[in-house]
Amino acid sequence: MNIGSHGGSCGHSCCLRLQGLSVKIGNDPILSGVDLHVHCGELVALIGPNGAGKSTLLKAILGQIEHDGIIAFSVPGQRTRKPKIGYVPQSPVFDPGDPVTVADLFACCMSKRPAFCGLSKAMQEKVLECLARVHAQDLIHKRVGVLSGGELQRVLLALALEPLPNILILDEPLSGVDVEGMESLMDMLDELRETYDLSILMTTHDFASLPRYADQVILIDHKVVCQGKPLEVLASQDFTRVFNRKGGGSF
Ligand code: ADP
Ligand code: MG
Repeated sequence: MNIGSHGGSCGHSCCLRLQGLSVKIGNDPILSGVDLHVHCGELVALIGPNGAGKSTLLKAILGQIEHDGIIAFSVPGQRTRKPKIGYVPQSPVFDPGDPVTVADLFACCMSKRPAFCGLSKAMQEKVLECLARVHAQDLIHKRVGVLSGGELQRVLLALALEPLPNILILDEPLSGVDVEGMESLMDMLDELRETYDLSILMTTHDFASLPRYADQVILIDHKVVCQGKPLEVLASQDFTRVFNRKGGGSF
């Protein structure tokens, strides 16, 4: 399915605007003067070299880190400016020897009952309903520590989708996922956005998938270097300079 057609249309999804966002950690300026706009229902890809401040930017939006400047949300039909945000952090690590199953993980996050008491029938049905959103019902009894990269991302996405958010923030969801898995994960994000009317802001290093899936690409390197349609950014001199590589031809 081709994306790019949703940008700017307002349903229940959320619009996010940053104005003059700056972050310092200690005395180190990590981000300065970041202006950006995620339109309702858009999939926006944040790209940049390692250490450019991508994860820091997401953490500022999530309110996990001090910042200067304005972060404003607007949720159509709601007076509140506080949206529901679903978040999947970068590379969470689970011990392969850990006995915690996917069902246990959901129970810990969604139920007051201790996970060692087992899942009630109602909770098991709820977990299956959540996993069905990402076509992963078959993973319910698998141990989290042995999931493949793609399976783990699906499970974490299912968690981030409960309760259904207005905006989904994903930090490198494709890292640790094989090439085939990347395409199927991006197809699923596309489907989720369409089904649940979500705005999605994600960081990624998978530039090849951007023209097909992203409405907007924002290249940052401690500040916004370049932003626009995927092919414009990938073909730009800024992209070539920042990544020290050839631009758009191969995309
Ligand atoms: P990216 O996600 O683009 O790879 P990050 O946002 O993780 O980059 O990091 C940007 C810069 O901020 C890096 O130089 C990193 O070392 C620094 N940084 C991030 N978090 C911290 C922290 N908690 N303490 C000190 N420096 C940090
Ligand atoms: Mg990062």
